[in-house]
Amino acid sequence: MKQLCFRTVHILKKLYADHPTILPILIFGPFTTALIPFYTYYFSAAILNALLGGNTSQALEQVLFLIGGNTILRVISRLCANQEHILEWDVLDYSMSGHLRDKCFSIEYAKYESEEVLSALRKAEINQHMGYNYGNILEQTIGIMTQLWTLLISLIMMCVLFLASSSWPLWLSLVTLCGVLFSVLCASGLVSWLGARINQKLDFYLKQNFELNSSGNYFIRLRDQVSNGKDIRIYHMQDLLIDRLKHYFQFNGREQCRLEGLFSGVNGGSIQALGMLAYFVIGLKVLEGDILVGDVLFYANGILSFSAASATIIKCAHFLHMALQGVDETLSFIESEDMSYDGTLPVEKRDDGQYHFSLQDVSFRYPGSSNWVLRHINLDLTVGRSYALVGLNGSGKTTLVKLLCRLYEPTEGKILLNGIDITKYDYDEYVSLFSVVFQDFQLLSLPLDENVACSMDVDAAKFTSVMEQVNLQERLPDPHVLLFKECGDGINLSGGEAQKVAIARALYKDAPFVILDEPTSALDPISEAEIYENFSTLIENKTAIYISHRMSSCRFCEEIVVLDHGNIVERGNHESLLAQKGLYANLYETQAQYYAEAKQRDEHQ
Ligand code: ADP
Repeated sequence: MKQLCFRTVHILKKLYADHPTILPILIFGPFTTALIPFYTYYFSAAILNALLGGNTSQALEQVLFLIGGNTILRVISRLCANQEHILEWDVLDYSMSGHLRDKCFSIEYAKYESEEVLSALRKAEINQHMGYNYGNILEQTIGIMTQLWTLLISLIMMCVLFLASSSWPLWLSLVTLCGVLFSVLCASGLVSWLGARINQKLDFYLKQNFELNSSGNYFIRLRDQVSNGKDIRIYHMQDLLIDRLKHYFQFNGREQCRLEGLFSGVNGGSIQALGMLAYFVIGLKVLEGDILVGDVLFYANGILSFSAASATIIKCAHFLHMALQGVDETLSFIESEDMSYDGTLPVEKRDDGQYHFSLQDVSFRYPGSSNWVLRHINLDLTVGRSYALVGLNGSGKTTLVKLLCRLYEPTEGKILLNGIDITKYDYDEYVSLFSVVFQDFQLLSLPLDENVACSMDVDAAKFTSVMEQVNLQERLPDPHVLLFKECGDGINLSGGEAQKVAIARALYKDAPFVILDEPTSALDPISEAEIYENFSTLIENKTAIYISHRMSSCRFCEEIVVLDHGNIVERGNHESLLAQKGLYANLYETQAQYYAEAKQRDEHQ
């Protein structure tokens, strides 16, 4: 409890520093909200008593008090509630999900991909989804404060009922007061205890099974991605997905409803029992002549409010505890270190473009894996030359590129740029040296020009130039055309067109190193030939690194590096590698033979 109060005050202080409106909300909101029902019942009772006593002018006066006071209280309460909602939804929740999003964009890629971080992210997302955030802390604090005011006011009322206006002997009044308080506390204790047990169980489902929930969310997201629609239909995956969704959500849903039903049953029963007790005691007081008939509702409301408030406080405290825990989990992810080490050296901006990379005895294992993907790689890359990385699937070509782009750090060895370890450079500046088209490049459901420029600020002339270079100008003449259907009525692209847009994006960036991982795998033979014929002009004096399975597409490269099981096994130009009669020659001849045989078959037919 102490910890709960301490953490809440700490967070509220932090929020107050940025949003001072929290203070008036916390002072006036709970008090006015708690006061409204008592005020209403008090004056309603007074009006009824005045009317029963035949005093119409007094009743009229009380009506004015009722309307006037009620209006003022409700205006203050509403204003506070509105401010609270604006703060919760527009500021606090939004800023936390904003921080979460920024974190996902800024965290080092290798960390982002790790199970530890993904699991922390899933937890944070579930906390967001459940509403366990700053806004919820504020909401629950206001709830507790409102109920504390209610407790205080109703306690005063009970003291007035049993002590101040009582014809009973003092001992009887005290015994009755204690008896009523005891019954009320027992009833609310029972409801709170049950509520806490049920909430604990619900937490178990929500928290302990967060993996299940996030898997369920994954299946829901699948539904929203148009591109999944094809496979889902062709392979009749609908039933599989629906069954999976049921598996993840149904159990929790049913159990949740059962528990909530049980809770409202017990809660409703205890309110009924307390109501009977309250009306019995108050009825006696009316018969004794201690209070007037009109006061019955007023005092009965006092006793019932006391009970409801004590149960609600415990419920709010529980949710406050959950929200604090959720915020702590989310913050621990948001505040975790972005990069293992972050260099600050600026990258030299060279007009002559003279950048030189040197991979020195680089070996690499993916985080959490014991398999060496690259072993003792020594390689020099100089600007202006063209390189090809070739090898069988899984030989480490893409991984080598990822290391070069600092998506991962070498496990052993180092990479130097102009003689300086690349980790010493400022990360963003370093990354600006590369334009990469990964095999699994991503185009977004945004206007075409923004996809290419990766910004809303598009250089129209440069955009047109790169679109012409990849021969897309005619097919996609409207720079603002929306791609895909996720964000509106956009156009779909063929695999080859999408690949050309991705190449255009790489060219638009105009970085000194252009890396193309299987850049023409989706292109038709004519487009592929065009791209390769134009590459020397497209790339100009930049360094180009091609990764390709098609040996014929590497022959124009000045240096070909052959990888096998993470080792560089051969290097040289096309002719020298053919002469070596090693892996490269073998792969080249196998492909050439395949095409020759196919041609022969065609000629026979
Ligand atoms: P290539 O580009 O030559 O086809 P890759 O560099 O993509 O090969 O992959 C080399 C090896 O690294 C493969 O065995 C692959 O399974 C493994 N690998 C690739 N990405 C990851 C990753 N993110 N985590 C663990 N292993 C990976």
